[in-house]
Amino acid sequence: MSSPAVTPAPAPAPVLLGRTALVTGAASGIGAACALRLAAAGARVRALDRDAGGLADLTARAHSLPGAVEAEVLDLTDLDAAERAAAGTDVLVNNAGIQLVRPIEDFPPDTFHTMLTVMLEAPFRLIRGALPGMYGRGWGRIVNISSVHGLRASAYKSAYVTAKHGLEGLSKVTALEGAPHGVTSNCVSPGYVRTPLVEKQLADQAAAHSLPVERVLNDVLLAGSAVKRLVEPEEVAEAVAYLCGPYAMSVTGTTMVLDGGWTAR
Ligand code: NAD
Repeated sequence: MSSPAVTPAPAPAPVLLGRTALVTGAASGIGAACALRLAAAGARVRALDRDAGGLADLTARAHSLPGAVEAEVLDLTDLDAAERAAAGTDVLVNNAGIQLVRPIEDFPPDTFHTMLTVMLEAPFRLIRGALPGMYGRGWGRIVNISSVHGLRASAYKSAYVTAKHGLEGLSKVTALEGAPHGVTSNCVSPGYVRTPLVEKQLADQAAAHSLPVERVLNDVLLAGSAVKRLVEPEEVAEAVAYLCGPYAMSVTGTTMVLDGGWTAR
């Protein structure tokens, strides 16, 4: 399915000049779009991922931006290293994620564990590492890339739905604790976004639902969405930038949903 093009936005105001941002899963998809958008707003962005090649591509795209994008190779399953990496950041975007589509009885327990580690425990450790510095400076922005699956369940996504529901809860607790210190915490929860994570799951979904791949997009992925298009990564990045900007000081403990009306049902 093709989406109407997103009109390129005018150059954003440099509202994050002097701020440091850490974006996880920044080598691809939504994370790459967030890194570029925050650098366009003037931030020094530390782009963290386990994929060194993807990070090299990203930094090459960031040359002309007012901020900077610096690559940091790290696998977030190293939780102690993740917590250390978050020290000193003003903005934290918890974005890294993985997906496996399988019925519960066939879902490998090791994969369930890894997904919860990367998508829930690592965000906790990154927040834990970031908060002392944010509290000391009296300002911080935490944005957790959740999903419509943080608010709704789908069959065959036990680990993903569990992790994202947990992330929504973690984000709210962070908002309550951070508020007296000038720290906000919110989720951005998209429906299906045009990224490699979605492209990879088309075949899995086709097998799980016994459908040809070409029917999966409309009949499965976009079945719950009133707006029948994929979200573009830049749309998610714009929501993240808003939450880090000067007009979102009172926005905390909530979720910005970009789901084409899915959760309106
Ligand atoms: P993607 O596959 O394009 O990018 C995910 C990135 O995370 C990759 O660069 C990968 O290397 C990195 N990553 C994975 N495991 C890691 C680890 N252990 N350590 C370090 N980096 C690791 O995916 P995406 O679609 O851009 O997804 C980004 C986030 O958005 C995820 O949390 C995902 O759940 C969420 N999301 C995606 C969609 C969608 O439709 N694409 C919808 C809703 C929410």
